Amino acid sequence: SLAVADPEGRIRYCLFRQNLGDIVCGDHVVWQAIGEGQGVVTARLPRDTVLARPDFSGHEKPLAANITQLVVVLAPEPPPNEFLIDQYLVAAETIGVRVLLAINKLDLLDRAQTAVLQERFRIYETIGYALLWISGKQAHGLEPLVEHLRDQTSILVGQSGVGKSSLVRALLPDRDILVRSLSKTTGFGRHTTSTVTSYPLPHGGRLVDSPGVRSFRLGKLSRQALEQGFVEFRPYIGRCRFADCRHDQEPGCALKAAVDSGRIDPRRLQDFHQLAAELAESA
Ligand code: GDP
Ligand code: ZN
Repeated sequence: SLAVADPEGRIRYCLFRQNLGDIVCGDHVVWQAIGEGQGVVTARLPRDTVLARPDFSGHEKPLAANITQLVVVLAPEPPPNEFLIDQYLVAAETIGVRVLLAINKLDLLDRAQTAVLQERFRIYETIGYALLWISGKQAHGLEPLVEHLRDQTSILVGQSGVGKSSLVRALLPDRDILVRSLSKTTGFGRHTTSTVTSYPLPHGGRLVDSPGVRSFRLGKLSRQALEQGFVEFRPYIGRCRFADCRHDQEPGCALKAAVDSGRIDPRRLQDFHQLAAELAESA
């Protein structure tokens, strides 16, 4: 059964037919009332975006629908990993959602260390992504993030230990109360806390959260989608001398030329090659 919110935000406990397929957090549905506080879902509306993860048999299973923004959380500790960041960026571009890089635990860094990290991540600003410097531990440390979450349906992703669950607690001070009132009005047991839930944020916007969503990773995609996932490559795609250019050793490669003239960061092209190799291997 599902917890369905009506346009006024009231939650109803709804049954649904198996033939509707997967209905996930964030889906918009059509439902009919059947008695006090209960209902039945009769249809699922088309999704704008889907966040999916391959299941044990390799099929993509939807995790959450209609998300508009992926927030990649980074921190000085554990050490950031650009290869992982690039995978999140490709995933966001593929799904078609906005993406932010939030560098957390700013309280651990002095001015000079902050400057070093700013320099390291400048490339991401250069190619058009917003970088937010935050600290979940400081009283006003979340303001830039709160501002960017307003009007969006966001999820937090990133390595274990960067502070995602602490951020969720700080952003949703009433989360436990919400979960408890949800189980009271819907009759859901404690186990509902382990399913994916979308919470309204006090300052606007929604946050979709569950441990499974937080550990979301890049799934399978075509080489074409991978190329498009590196935003700064886009102006050069299709301009190589050979239509099937691998952007490796071929003469007349537009991407290599862009690297040589400083318009593409060589590390990003290297990450593209590594991801392309991993995709080819898993195919
Ligand atoms: P998650 O694995 O990404 O969910 O990370 P957690 O929220 O569990 O946090 C991992 C560790 O980092 C915990 O020991 C937190 O107390 C600590 N932590 C989280 N946010 C901050 C922060 O803003 N500053 C500092 N110094 N530590 C933090
Ligand atoms: Zn090329």
